[in-house]
Amino acid sequence: MSLEKGKVSIHSENIFPIIKKWLYSDKDIFVRELVSNACDAIAKHKRLASMGQANLEDKYKVIVAVDRDKRTISFEDNGIGMTAEEIKKYINQVAFSGAEDFVNKYKDKMDESNDIIGHFGLGFYSAFMVAEKVQIDSLSFEEGSEPVKWESEDGMEFELSQGDRIEHGTKITLTIAEDSDEFLYEYKLREILNKYCYFLPVEIFLENVQDNSIDMSESDSEVTSQENNNSDKDEIEEVKAINNTQPLWMKSPKDCSDEDYKNFYREVFKTYEDPLFWIHLNVDFPFNLKGILYFPKLKNEYELVEGQVKLFNNQVFVADNIKEVIPEFLLLLKGVIDCPDLPLNVSRSFLQNDKDVSKISKHIVKKVADKLKSLFKNEREVFEGFWDDIHMFIKYGCLKDESFYDKIKEVILYKDIDSKHITLSEYLKDAKENNYENTVYYTTDINQQAQYIKQFKTNGLNAIVMDNTLDTPFMGLIEYKESMSNNGIENTEENNLENMLKFARIDSDISKIMSSTEEENSEIDQEIVEIFKNVLGEKLSDYKVESFKDKNMTAMVTVDEDSIRMAQMKEQFQAMGMAGMDFEEKQSLLVNRKSPVIVKLLDMSKDPSNKEKVDLICSQIADLAILSNRELNPDQLNEYINRSNKIMMLVLNQ
Ligand code: ADP
Repeated sequence: MSLEKGKVSIHSENIFPIIKKWLYSDKDIFVRELVSNACDAIAKHKRLASMGQANLEDKYKVIVAVDRDKRTISFEDNGIGMTAEEIKKYINQVAFSGAEDFVNKYKDKMDESNDIIGHFGLGFYSAFMVAEKVQIDSLSFEEGSEPVKWESEDGMEFELSQGDRIEHGTKITLTIAEDSDEFLYEYKLREILNKYCYFLPVEIFLENVQDNSIDMSESDSEVTSQENNNSDKDEIEEVKAINNTQPLWMKSPKDCSDEDYKNFYREVFKTYEDPLFWIHLNVDFPFNLKGILYFPKLKNEYELVEGQVKLFNNQVFVADNIKEVIPEFLLLLKGVIDCPDLPLNVSRSFLQNDKDVSKISKHIVKKVADKLKSLFKNEREVFEGFWDDIHMFIKYGCLKDESFYDKIKEVILYKDIDSKHITLSEYLKDAKENNYENTVYYTTDINQQAQYIKQFKTNGLNAIVMDNTLDTPFMGLIEYKESMSNNGIENTEENNLENMLKFARIDSDISKIMSSTEEENSEIDQEIVEIFKNVLGEKLSDYKVESFKDKNMTAMVTVDEDSIRMAQMKEQFQAMGMAGMDFEEKQSLLVNRKSPVIVKLLDMSKDPSNKEKVDLICSQIADLAILSNRELNPDQLNEYINRSNKIMMLVLNQ
């Protein structure tokens, strides 16, 4: 074959520097591109062999070899290879015109270079990001083909000549430019291969020419027999490839055992932990999607942000956590998603508007919801066991995506004050029997609110524990959603507000819970209120009187529900770094007219000489009630201690 020289394209001078600049931020991808081209060439050869048009190889492989002395990295495959004509067509024209199209289309968006998630199509030319010279040695699988050599120093001018390859396939050799020295280190190549090529379908071997061996030092594979000083290619057969050619997500779910899923999880996420459970996605129609999503064990809020969903395109890694494809809340999970149909070579803003992308994303949400529902339905106990690990994820998901809430609302669990897991409807069924039909009582702190919990329990009532930062907005969401669904589309003023579901903190509405049916006596009540008001004044925002079911309870504090909400809002603002207005929870004193202490107090107050004692007892009753609601501030605590001492002296002097 005669020597042929030429220019890759007449526009190349303009375009090539742009490509170079654009891709600069992510040079690593030349490895991904050249290795995936090699795998594609092998896939094509296999397909032709399966149709009887080529001889099936015993072993298909890609060898990546680094030679630090010669400053080269080569990528060799035993795929279909290329004839001189094909090189002209595919490399000189197609590859470049692909690049040209790409640049023309996106040149206005050059500044968004960080937004580019893949550079498929620029493939082969990405070699010039790191190489000062690229050489292709190829021999087509077709019988009678001549080996061919293509060389280019800048990606613009090339030389095509007779080659000397004897096996079908292609070897692409890059002479690495000075500014890209880092790629001549084997560990660097290994790192990139592990990142992008770990699940490619053809075995990939990494060879370090200086070490005279196929290096596998860090490979977690077992080596069968390998003489360290032997670079004979035959020996490659003995060494394990750096990649896993059959990732679990490509298998049919029925062929995968629990152990397979767990091992795969450990392999991909480099962990010793087991996942809680998983969802194997396997869709062929109307789009192609495969993947496995794992629910990791989440123990604290901090971990909540550490999910990782890896996106692949035909087993080639593209990127982590692409929120355009995977709904943001699902990024709290760990997993792998392979979407061969996605146009991953385009910018993220394009993905956002792509219909397929939103279909895929909806499908994934639906599958996650289905899995949760089936666990709840078929393995409730197991599901309850997972709840503490997954509730944050679920609540966050509901807050981020109302359609997710709509899908899974029946399976949302709440831990009650007996540490049992119940659903909202189970709670409400119970509540109905106890005549507090639409109110869900909750505690935000089982220790601080222990007195109230005790009252609830002794009265045979239930409450749920909502002590997580997400719980406040989550309760808001449920009130909103459930009231909508209970009362029709809209809550007009005609809709009975009484019927709307509402959450009430355990200390807010306590009178309803604790009161007995005994008749009130407004005159006596008024007297009691006056006694307390006279002594305590503004210390509490209101004073009320009730008959408690428990006669020995003297008084309790109730907190105004609106003020609770205001205070919660303030907390949320603060958590978001905004200064909220200052809201204090408003406390009222609820006094038990049937309590022997109150009866006696009332009696004694009739005699003005008892004033000191009455004052002491009133203040003490109020402080005890406040104490079972929240901590006293330092001044209050001082006063409380001094007064307690006085009371003790009084008792001792009697
Ligand atoms: P793409 O892979 O997206 O088509 P590339 O620029 O990477 O774009 O490659 C252009 C074309 O060159 C490929 O479509 C293929 O026909 C050919 N090619 C590239 N590398 C190889 C190879 N290792 N073996 C055979 N053909 C190859």
